[in-house]
Amino acid sequence: TGYVAIVGRPNVGKSTLLNRILGQKLSITSRKPQTTRHQILGIKTENDVQVVYVDTPGIHKINDKAINRYMNKAATTAVKDVDLIILMIDRLRWTDEDEMALQAVKSQRAPAILVVNKVDFIREKEELLPFLEEVSKKHTFDQVIPVSAKTGHNVERLESLIESYMPESGYFYP
Ligand code: GDP
Repeated sequence: TGYVAIVGRPNVGKSTLLNRILGQKLSITSRKPQTTRHQILGIKTENDVQVVYVDTPGIHKINDKAINRYMNKAATTAVKDVDLIILMIDRLRWTDEDEMALQAVKSQRAPAILVVNKVDFIREKEELLPFLEEVSKKHTFDQVIPVSAKTGHNVERLESLIESYMPESGYFYP
């Protein structure tokens, strides 16, 4: 069993992606089980690999340093002890809230994937590469993948990628 946390500011499309991935296989969400640290959103088993998706608190930037610090700590706790962190962003935008989410990712040693969502919306496709280069300077992601949670574009590829990072799939990170 592997644990995955999807972090990102509100409206980037986290629930849309989860609904698409979990679909009808969304098994125990209604009972809202807890692990010692995490609230489980859903579990999916495929190819003998079990992926557990855990909840992360919303990341809003507020005009109050103490609250921001508190929320950042909550986000950091949520991504602790997972096998994979997915940072999700909305198209080619990088906001202060994305930056806060990144800080929570940065303090962890788990591998991290950057998911650029809503690519169906991106008109300026030629801006994708320069944008990704810019983001890469902030953090070295293990993978960067553009998807559309809404249309499903690339979501199967993302799922195989997620599977490959789960402990039983034999992937080890240094
Ligand atoms: P969350 O707050 O991160 O969980 O975001 P939601 O999943 O609630 O999505 C926020 C809004 O973005 C909703 O109106 C979704 O329908 C929309 N949305 C999510 N993913 C996509 C996408 O890939 N393409 C487009 N066009 N809209 C999307």
